[in-house]
Amino acid sequence: MPGPRTYTAHATAPIGSGMCCLVKGQVAFAGSGPGDPDLLTLKVARALQEADVILFDRLVSAEILELAGPQALLEDVGKEGFGPSMSQPEICARMVAHARSGKKVLRLKSGDPTIFGRLDEELTACEEAGVAYQIMPGITAASAAVAGIGQSLTQRGRNSSVRFLTGHDMKGFADQDWAALARPGEVAAIYMGKKSARFVQGRLIMHGASRATPVTLVENASRSNQRVLETTLDRLPTDLAEARFDGPALTFLGLAPRQTVAALSDLNMELA
Ligand code: SAH
Repeated sequence: MPGPRTYTAHATAPIGSGMCCLVKGQVAFAGSGPGDPDLLTLKVARALQEADVILFDRLVSAEILELAGPQALLEDVGKEGFGPSMSQPEICARMVAHARSGKKVLRLKSGDPTIFGRLDEELTACEEAGVAYQIMPGITAASAAVAGIGQSLTQRGRNSSVRFLTGHDMKGFADQDWAALARPGEVAAIYMGKKSARFVQGRLIMHGASRATPVTLVENASRSNQRVLETTLDRLPTDLAEARFDGPALTFLGLAPRQTVAALSDLNMELA
């Protein structure tokens, strides 16, 4: 019987290789984190300095793009929710063309590139074109948002697992295991959840979720304009409409802000 398969080759940069990191004619898929430049990894900050071409998504913050080297050509391939502004094949074609012309290409995505980042389509495009690549992780929005409300994503005795969901996909509202999500104590981080708030609320209540389930939205997590909306499943669509969030927002099902954090924020508002 053959033994276990182990690998030394990997799709990420050699670990502990010291100085960065980009190679001519290759693509680095990197996560820019939730927006605060201090939450960039050192590796991605170095890659920004080194890149010849940076293809970036809509949610990559301006402060982060300012860290690009003077030689870098910046291309906005931003995608809006519910349909891309530049098509996926077009993005893949541009990325491959830049790599083939011998450039150090940085494909910069918000948060972590492996979470709701449509990474696989672009990896496949590289493979089909014979272009080598590496993947550089980043801090995902859920991590930044949960830090902003003083909570943990998991907590002994409350939830020993957490789900990352998307509110919608390319086909429209995304279907989920609503029965499991409706159980008391479940925690989920919902990406792209603003437009689908009413849909999610309806499905969960239909599957027996308590209307009093805490729901918290964090808009612009980690940025100077971060805002938190504390609500319940019952009031979610109404409160969300009233809050008029226009930035990216992460929705937590089953989490309320830690009380001391909420009190501190009230105090700051009073002092402001
Ligand atoms: N790859 C990214 C997610 C891309 S999907 C990541 O790992 O974070 C885009 C969604 O991410 C947005 O609709 C929003 O739900 C969430 N998001 C991204 N940046 C955010 C931020 N700074 N604050 C709150 N939510 C954010």
